[in-house]
Amino acid sequence: MRDLLGGKGAGLAEMTRLGLPVPPGFTITTKACHAYARSGRYPPGLWKQVEVGLAAVEAKIGRRLGDPAAPLLVSVRSGAKFSMPGMMDTVLNLGLNDATVDVLARSSNDRFAWDAYRRLIAMFGRIVKDLDGREFEALLERHKEAAAAKKDTDLSAEDLKRIVAEFKGLYRERVGEEFPQDPKDQLTQAVAAVFRSWNGKRAVDYRNFNKIPHDLGTAASVQAMVFGNMGPDSGTGVAFTRNPSTGEKQLFGEFLPNAQGEDVVAGIRTPMTIAQLRDSFPAVYGELADIAGLLEKHFRDVQDIEFTVERGKLWMLQTRTGKRSARAAVKVAVDMAREGLISKQEAILRVEPMHVVHLLLPQFDERAKASARKEGRLLARGLNASPGAAAGFASFDPDEAEAMGRDRKKPVILIRVETSPDDVHGILYAKGVLTARGGATSHAAVVTRGLGIPCVAGCESIVVDYDQSEFRVGDKVVRRGDFVSIDGSTGEVYEGRIPTIDPDFRKEADLQMLLQWGDKERRLQVWANADYPRDAERAREFGAEGIGLDRTEHMFMEPDRLDVVHEMILAAPGYRKVSAEVRALKSEIESAKQGKREALEKRLASSKSVQEELAGRYLGSLEKLGRLQKKDFIGILRAMQGLPVIIRLIDPPLHEFLPKYETLLVQVTKLTLARGNPDILVAHARSEEEQAFIAEVREAGGGDLARGIDALLPKKQRLLEAVAATREANPMLGLRGCRLGITFPEITEMQVRAIFEASCALAKEGVVVKPEIMIPLAGHVNELKVEREALESEAKRVMEREGIQVPYKFGTMIELPRAALTADQIANHAEFFSFGTNDLTQTTFGYSRDDAESKFLLDFVERGILPFNPFQTLDREGVGQLMRMCVQKGRKVRKDLEIGICGEHGGDPSSIELCHELGLNYVSCSPFRVPVARLAAAHAKLRNEVTRTEDR
Ligand code: PEP
Ligand code: MG
Repeated sequence: MRDLLGGKGAGLAEMTRLGLPVPPGFTITTKACHAYARSGRYPPGLWKQVEVGLAAVEAKIGRRLGDPAAPLLVSVRSGAKFSMPGMMDTVLNLGLNDATVDVLARSSNDRFAWDAYRRLIAMFGRIVKDLDGREFEALLERHKEAAAAKKDTDLSAEDLKRIVAEFKGLYRERVGEEFPQDPKDQLTQAVAAVFRSWNGKRAVDYRNFNKIPHDLGTAASVQAMVFGNMGPDSGTGVAFTRNPSTGEKQLFGEFLPNAQGEDVVAGIRTPMTIAQLRDSFPAVYGELADIAGLLEKHFRDVQDIEFTVERGKLWMLQTRTGKRSARAAVKVAVDMAREGLISKQEAILRVEPMHVVHLLLPQFDERAKASARKEGRLLARGLNASPGAAAGFASFDPDEAEAMGRDRKKPVILIRVETSPDDVHGILYAKGVLTARGGATSHAAVVTRGLGIPCVAGCESIVVDYDQSEFRVGDKVVRRGDFVSIDGSTGEVYEGRIPTIDPDFRKEADLQMLLQWGDKERRLQVWANADYPRDAERAREFGAEGIGLDRTEHMFMEPDRLDVVHEMILAAPGYRKVSAEVRALKSEIESAKQGKREALEKRLASSKSVQEELAGRYLGSLEKLGRLQKKDFIGILRAMQGLPVIIRLIDPPLHEFLPKYETLLVQVTKLTLARGNPDILVAHARSEEEQAFIAEVREAGGGDLARGIDALLPKKQRLLEAVAATREANPMLGLRGCRLGITFPEITEMQVRAIFEASCALAKEGVVVKPEIMIPLAGHVNELKVEREALESEAKRVMEREGIQVPYKFGTMIELPRAALTADQIANHAEFFSFGTNDLTQTTFGYSRDDAESKFLLDFVERGILPFNPFQTLDREGVGQLMRMCVQKGRKVRKDLEIGICGEHGGDPSSIELCHELGLNYVSCSPFRVPVARLAAAHAKLRNEVTRTEDR
């Protein structure tokens, strides 16, 4: 039904069916919108149907559109299948003209009737004729000033009559024709405008951001008007059946006495709360609460309700699924399952993976907030409209916010007087939103909550000045580009930056409960990528069931090890070369004649002495590193206590551990020039990097620059030579992964030795260990074969020496298309596969993972050349096809082959769904993503079940 009638039309129809007080009306379907979009005209027969619908409404109400004796007034409201709050248009008060305004004045009062008429002209002009609404507002403001009226309601009927005359004049001038007096003409044009608003800029932006298809179209509901601005016993409001920020079970919302619906939603005046409504309109409140309860039970979800009170009578204008914050989504789902309103499976599916992401987003550090308060940096307090902490540069312009956030990747806080749907493109790319006016159900508040963007709304003590691009609070001024921090959970606004801290997962009882329900459903296990014991511990806290990737090289990059690693890398190529020489000489000597042998032996002796010197440096460094790595492995294996830990052997090209070639070249050149004239080094140092270099030189000379230059120059020269020797044209396709282990076997042997020494030591203590050794970047089965044979022998040697056996596996990453294509051969030599989809995506697309995103990829996504960024979401058709083939081929040879994924995609919900479909055993992602992955894995399983039952 929602497909055809849109959410709003379907909600109205359902409420009418339930016998609730809904103003009579009918809905023109999304199909008509399509037809209109295609041809620019209404489909044949439509208007006849509209007239039949209208006649039914007229009969129910006892008034007719355009009837000078008893006129009917109607609204035309947009409403698509998916809620797009405020992104499309609505026209109210249709049916008013120079004749009917007098009738309305007689049946209500003069002031009200002329106010309704001026609203119609402005709204019609703005929405149907694309006029600039600010011109009407400016005109209204001029009259308010002249009449010394503070609020719109202070204007008299006479003032409003004059305003209507001027609005009509402005309309005539801008449109080139009179404001239409025929109500049917008004209606026809208004419906067309509502249809057109489907393709308006803010609607298109919103759909792009929320991945809502562009071909759904909007329906248009035509409904008899009821008025909330008929006096003090009237009003209009918005209510949620549960608190959309916290999820608490309480009617939550706002009510604006003597106002029309648009006034609440647009946040023009700050309204009263629903709790206050209970005191001022107890009967209305009672009825509303009953209806809210009934609607929630009927729809089995939180409802977002719009209502109007006309002279004491309650009218329901809309019900739809309520958008909610991440916290509310989790609490509502768990509560509703406990209340028996929905099943646990439904509860799991009700929470989006993004909700979990948002819930575990950093929060402001309470201590930092306290000291900021002491320093007087708490600027103001507004409504906590959408929870979360955000800090960024102040921007007062949505275009600028969009450019800064999207293009320049800068954190932005968008600051507006009031939240308007026209700001949506800026909101989408802001870290947070701050408004001076508007309630917790104003447009942008609703939008930010849905998007998970922190928002402080209705912060009335700030005075925003768009012309100066600044806001003032008392004597403080925050200018465009200044840093501000907002706390959407408390409504606080701070000057400057407040540091954030990680959330405490242990305190998230509802989330933990939901995830435990999900754990019972999912088939995929969730492991974590962790390099250090502290990451492993955090991963376990989040529910990880193993370590899917321990990138051992990260341990090499610890500052205290870098010197040893440098030494190892500097000596490695020389050691390799001279060892080959020694081997060649030895075999030559065996077959050489006596005369030649002596000469060869001399050469052998000299090569051996070089080899010894290099071995001291190379193997000596490796031994030191081995001792450190053993400690690393003990830490991580102990933290995982019997859960599998996949340890990947060194992967990146060696030069990644060395300083950059360009940096070294500059440094060597400077040191050479500064020999004998150290001052020139200091004279030209400006940047932080240059200052740091001078400090390094001084330190090398024990505080003396000249001595430092002499000491450092030969070292840097050696390093430069080594870097130059290891430089490659395409390092990502060069000497890395298992190629490195095959070329410099001593490095990977050291790593395997350390893994098994650590495992044996722990096993002796009684700790259960399950190390799995992963060989990276194999493309040909022989690469894996030689590497594994050498390394497994090393493992066995250690276990024999230690006198204890530990269970272990040897396996490989699947990161190259060739590996996926020959997975059957590879599976003969691997007990497990782990998809390294970062590299697999890189090599399948032929896109450099280091350059593509900054150079062209994001542009391709924006232009629709690529449907999404394949480094974030797995490309099903290409990379996914390779993975599918790989799983099938691998498991054909080895039925129990353990297969997982450890590329970045392992934490992406849609990629997790694919992994589920492919029958992987686990996904592995960063520790913080583990809760998201647990939920996404449960979703994948439950959604698959739903689809299967639907298919049957
Ligand atoms: C991968 O390629 O997906 C992977 C996990 O390895 P890395 O990112 O370390 O290359
Ligand atoms: Mg890789």
